[in-house]
Amino acid sequence: MVLAERSIWVFIEQEYGVIEESSLEVLSKAREITDKSGGLVTGILLGWNIRDKARELGRYGAHKVIVVEDKILETYLSEPYADIVGWLIEERKPDYFLASATRNGRDLAGRLAVRFKTGLQAHVIELDINEDGLLVGHVPGFGGNIVAVVKNIKGKPQMATVAIGVFTPKKLWSEAEVEVVDYKVEVERLNMRIIERVKREVVDISKSKRVVVAGMGTGGDLELVRKLSETIAADIGVTRPLADIGVAPRDIQIGSTGVSLNADLAIIVGASGAPHFVSGIRNVKTVISINKDPEAPIKEFSDYYIIGDLFEILPRLIEKLKR
Ligand SMILES: Cc1cc2nc3c(=O)[nH]c(=O)nc-3n(C[C@H](O)[C@H](O)[C@H](O)COP(=O)(O)OP(=O)(O)OC[C@H]3O[C@@H](n4cnc5c(N)ncnc54)[C@H](O)[C@@H]3O)c2cc1C
Repeated sequence: MVLAERSIWVFIEQEYGVIEESSLEVLSKAREITDKSGGLVTGILLGWNIRDKARELGRYGAHKVIVVEDKILETYLSEPYADIVGWLIEERKPDYFLASATRNGRDLAGRLAVRFKTGLQAHVIELDINEDGLLVGHVPGFGGNIVAVVKNIKGKPQMATVAIGVFTPKKLWSEAEVEVVDYKVEVERLNMRIIERVKREVVDISKSKRVVVAGMGTGGDLELVRKLSETIAADIGVTRPLADIGVAPRDIQIGSTGVSLNADLAIIVGASGAPHFVSGIRNVKTVISINKDPEAPIKEFSDYYIIGDLFEILPRLIEKLKR
């Protein structure tokens, strides 16, 4: 079926003019769909002095790019972004709206879905439009143990956020048509403003070769985990409860709602192996676990399973490795 009149909008995230790679993944996927079943892909790009970047987005699949520029849009801010994109949707009524499932993409999509009383497929890992014109997404659940096929049967635009890294950005197409839209952001009306930005150095542990992972069995005391990681030149990861209580930043939380590891080696200490956690270690080549429970679920996902108290085992292991 050819969906000639249908339009897929893709939110193009940027920060200080640097386009977020995962937006390009979504753009290319959207274009693949329209190349197959018809329709137009429109990139929605908000930023400051950004219009020069817009045309280039065509190469990744956008037929057209709508640009809104304002100094306040240099980085993502919930209110003006949701206001502007919401206004554009109201004016132009796209059929579909996609965003990468980054923090900002999820924030924006959630706000828009509520505003337009429409369904939002979260974190899809596969995406298509069926012969009835319904957006069909594959949504992982229960830590990746099941995948639900979800259709948006009501509401417009049909919306989805797309998991990061599942599609590949392709530079196959030609330049996009660019439309710059005037929008006056009423800064004084905003409830939130950025006063100061402090940039924290974040290690992308999805790319680490070795990771020592701390679970709740550590009781939140990461000293031995740090020592072990230094000894074997590894990065540190944690289970979600440790990120929840603020012992470690969310960026190094492993699992379905965190990072997926692709390491050669992960040493997992004091983690039970809940489904939401193990979905983040499926691609690790060698898993060594230390747990005082002889039958913790993590055993099934481990190549080597050491039974005992981590506070006794780790100092001995570190000593041995140092020699
Ligand atoms: C929607 C949703 C999403 C979620 N997403 C994630 C996610 O992305 N990542 C994630 O990690 N979790 C996630 N969770 C939480 C998940 O279900 C588990 O609750 C969590 O993974 C458990 O963390 P843990 O293994 O550190 O703690 P626990 O389950 O409490 O396990 C602690 C383990 O340490 C062992 N232990 C205790 N003391 C010692 C000791 N001294 N020496 C050795 N071993 C010891 C225990 O035997 C036990 O096996 C999610 C939950 C929900 C509902």
